[in-house]
Amino acid sequence: MRPQSPIFNHPSLLLFEKCKSLKTLKQIHGHMITTGLILHTFPLSRLLLHSSLPPISSTLGLSYATSIFHQITYPPSIFLYNTLISALASQNHTHEALSLYTRVLCDQTLWPNNFTYPSLFKACGAHPSWLVHGRALHAHVLKFLGPTSDHFVLSSLLHFYSRCGKLALSRHLFHQIQNPDLGAWNSIMCAYAHVSTGADTSSIEALLLFNQMLHSLARPNEITLVSLISACADLGALSQGAWAHAYVDRHDLRLNRFVGTALIDMYARCGRADMANQVFDALPRKDTLCYNAMIRALAVHGHGQRAVGLFDQMTHENVTVDNITILAVMCACAHVGWVDEGRRYFDSMKEAYGIEPKIEHYGCLVDLLGRAGRLSEAMDIVRKMPMKPNAVLWRSLLGACRTHDHLELGEHALTHLIQLEPENSGSYVLLSNMYANINRWDDVRRVRKVMKDKGVQKMPGCSFIEMDGAIHEFMMGDRAHPCTVEIYAMLDEMGKKLHACGYRPCTMDVLFDIDEEEKEGAVSYHSEKIAIAFGLLASESGATIRIIKNLRVCRDCHATTKLVSQIYGREIIVRDRIRFHHFRGGTCSCLDYW
Ligand code: ZN
Ligand code: ZN
Repeated sequence: MRPQSPIFNHPSLLLFEKCKSLKTLKQIHGHMITTGLILHTFPLSRLLLHSSLPPISSTLGLSYATSIFHQITYPPSIFLYNTLISALASQNHTHEALSLYTRVLCDQTLWPNNFTYPSLFKACGAHPSWLVHGRALHAHVLKFLGPTSDHFVLSSLLHFYSRCGKLALSRHLFHQIQNPDLGAWNSIMCAYAHVSTGADTSSIEALLLFNQMLHSLARPNEITLVSLISACADLGALSQGAWAHAYVDRHDLRLNRFVGTALIDMYARCGRADMANQVFDALPRKDTLCYNAMIRALAVHGHGQRAVGLFDQMTHENVTVDNITILAVMCACAHVGWVDEGRRYFDSMKEAYGIEPKIEHYGCLVDLLGRAGRLSEAMDIVRKMPMKPNAVLWRSLLGACRTHDHLELGEHALTHLIQLEPENSGSYVLLSNMYANINRWDDVRRVRKVMKDKGVQKMPGCSFIEMDGAIHEFMMGDRAHPCTVEIYAMLDEMGKKLHACGYRPCTMDVLFDIDEEEKEGAVSYHSEKIAIAFGLLASESGATIRIIKNLRVCRDCHATTKLVSQIYGREIIVRDRIRFHHFRGGTCSCLDYW
């Protein structure tokens, strides 16, 4: 074996370990100059590295390291470049790190290697403004390194794309990593948790992936569980989510604020506000994040009073109120129709908490006023707000115009919506329903033509129901389920019982391009009705039925679900795109206000 060069274990290098301040570091630097150690790459790299590490202050240390680097009298090797690039990138000096990397590219004698990229990808993934640079760097990896199997390069790329929300690329990279470590598993789980907005099969893949992880050498930690629990929340997968909760308890993982918040959010979104509350109570330390999640949970479940109570408790215990807290408590007021209370929170946020209202707060206020039919006040807010109203805001105004039959304002809102989102079908449907409501069929046809001319497609309705740990998905008029014969027989039976109660379908909200005679059939086969029929068939009598729907519940489904809850003596909980409906004994928790 070749004896190691004395440079690598020179006694001066040990001094770095004891170095606690920039002053001592400068002394070591001086010593290195006098001994000539500074002329060697390895000791110099130690000096660069240690100047940028804690306990030395990052700004002072980094500028010291940079100035040393620029004074090197010989052309620095790629090894020295990598050291400083990594130091800069790790301290969020992304701009400087990238400009140093550019110097590598300009130097004909240098060639980037495996160690050049990981820190740069990490830095580029940390902030949205750097994402485009990260993608350019990926091209550089392919150019300079070729197809690489280097664990660190692949893991950093995976992490980067996971932060960008690029699931397909993340998955591709993950499969290239041999024996993925905990970091790689967490990156891919995080990619799934971030991508799955709304009901999507990719969340089911996240559960399968976690299962694979349990059979690998890597052990899940709190970060893994947060991703897993978020994936369960998106899917409304209550038993998997509860299983993840039990996993946290069984494996002595910490119920920290991130795990706690994810659990509260998951239980709330799976329709279990009670379990969310239990987790909240069990949290050893409750900060803004935890309170926000719990207030939001109470809000979407229509527990306005308790949400406001929790907000009071939060301020009483001096937990910082942020813009999300205000939004959550305003939402709580909106869901129970407390217009003036909601407005009061909005009016006080700047003065009492020093928070400038954002567009979301204006949106919530407009929603609050609009739902209560105070449309001129809502329009007044829209006119006076300091920023340009977004599509969400116009849509809630349009919804309010529909509920309160205010056509003129509805048309106005729609004009703005179509400019902002020409491809979104929701607004056309709302407006045409309003026209149909008052028998203005010429206008219905006009909207329908505009929609056809622009090639706008209606988003298909889709409902999920969890039964014994399996997720069943139904589309409108779906006949793909193995039990489809029984399900449709059940739908028939439901229809007859409803009819016997004197119920007549309400076809007002049916998409206008279905012929009149088909309308009745179409509403009876809306995806949530099929899911309810399946729920009645497949669950024990008296068990609660939980359903997740990707769109807003239509009037007919709302009315029939109320009756079904009474006729069959079942509690039915439906999470739609906006809120939760708890149907019990013929009534709904939203008090028909949604
Ligand atoms: Zn419906
Ligand atoms: Zn309801």
